[in-house]
Amino acid sequence: MVKYALLIDYQYCTGCHSCEVACKEEHGLREGKWGIRLYEDGPWQKCDDNDQGHNFNWNKIPVPTDLCDGCASRLARGRKPVCVHNCLGACMEFGTIEELSVKLAAKPKQVLWAIDTD
Ligand code: SF4
Ligand code: SF4
Repeated sequence: MVKYALLIDYQYCTGCHSCEVACKEEHGLREGKWGIRLYEDGPWQKCDDNDQGHNFNWNKIPVPTDLCDGCASRLARGRKPVCVHNCLGACMEFGTIEELSVKLAAKPKQVLWAIDTD
């Protein structure tokens, strides 16, 4: 049974890559290996006949990889995952699926990643 997750409010992700770098350093991952990757889609225009504000799709979404263990060693020391700790957009949270599901339901443009701790 999956217990923990990362909630990412990608509406506020700045695309700074701090989560990627912090995870890589914490886990000593060599070049080409990642615990989380930032993906970007856009900018592209959503509606051709509307040149007013909010007309662009431009999303940045970090995606944990198979190497993400939820920062198990940090959790054992009572600390947050290092990606959450270093997120400059303050848009990542760690917690139980139950508590984060409530936050997920409260606003759009978020994703909830169930962490594989096995
Ligand atoms: S929880 Fe830890 S291992 Fe997983 S992506 Fe974040 S920093 Fe990397
Ligand atoms: S650290 Fe936060 S703001 Fe920066 S890319 Fe990662 S999720 Fe986005």
